[in-house]
Amino acid sequence: MPKQLYALFGGTFDPIHNGHLLPVMALAKEVGLTQVNLLPNHIPPHKQQPDTTPIQRVAMLKLAIEGNPLFTIDMRELNRDKPSYTIDTLEEWRKEHGMDVSLAFIIGQDSLLSLPSWQRWRELLNYCHLLVCRRPGFTAQTESPELKEWIVQHQTQDIALLHQKPHGHLYLAHTPLEDISATEIRQQIREQKDYHTLLPEKVWQYIQQNQLYI
Ligand code: ATP
Repeated sequence: MPKQLYALFGGTFDPIHNGHLLPVMALAKEVGLTQVNLLPNHIPPHKQQPDTTPIQRVAMLKLAIEGNPLFTIDMRELNRDKPSYTIDTLEEWRKEHGMDVSLAFIIGQDSLLSLPSWQRWRELLNYCHLLVCRRPGFTAQTESPELKEWIVQHQTQDIALLHQKPHGHLYLAHTPLEDISATEIRQQIREQKDYHTLLPEKVWQYIQQNQLYI
C-alpha cells in the first residue's frame, strides 16, 4: 500500500471551470491521489478585483465538486482575510501535519513558468512536491536559465518517489489539454456568448441565477 500523497490545488477559481477539474481528475488517476484539497485564494491586491465575493467563489466550488469524493475545500487562505503567499500556507500546513507525510501542490504549466516571481519560490520544495498539469499554449521550456536549471535539478518521472518522499520533487504530468481560462469565461459572459460547456452545469446555473460577471 503506497503512502498517502496529500494534495493541495490553489487558485482564484473565479469561476472554477473544466480546465481546473478535468486535468486534476486525470492527474489524480495518473499519480494515485485519493483526495485533492481545493485552496481558494484571496485576490492579491495587484490583480484586478473580481465582481464576485469570496462567498460566491466558494459557493461555485461547492457546486462543482458536489458528488465527487476526490475533492474537498480548504478555507484557510480565505479565512485569513488577507492575501497569503503559498509558502506561508505550506508552512502552516506542515505545522499541522508534521514534516513526514507526503504533500503535493498542484499547478498548471503557466504557473510553473511564473514560479520565479513567487515569494521564496526555491523553498517551496522544502514543503511539498510540485505536480504540473499541462496547459495549452505553455510548455516547460523556459527562457529563464535559473528556472531551467531548477527544473532539471528537481524533476522526476518516478511516481512511487512522490509517495515515498514527503517533498522535494517536480513532476510534469501527462494530463489532457483543456483550452479554458476563467478570463475567457468572464469575457464570454460579457459578450453574451454560450459558455456552458466550459464548466460544470451547476456552476453555470449559479452564474446565471446570480447574474455574475455581467
Ligand atoms: P484567470 O484566467 O482568471 O487568470 P485561470 O483560469 O488561470 O484564471 P486560476 O484560478 O488562476 O485559473 O488557476 C488556478 C490554477 O489552475 C493555476 O495553477 C493554473 O495554472 C491552473 N489552471 C487554470 N486553468 C487551467 C487549464 N485550462 N489547464 C491546466 N491548468 C489550469
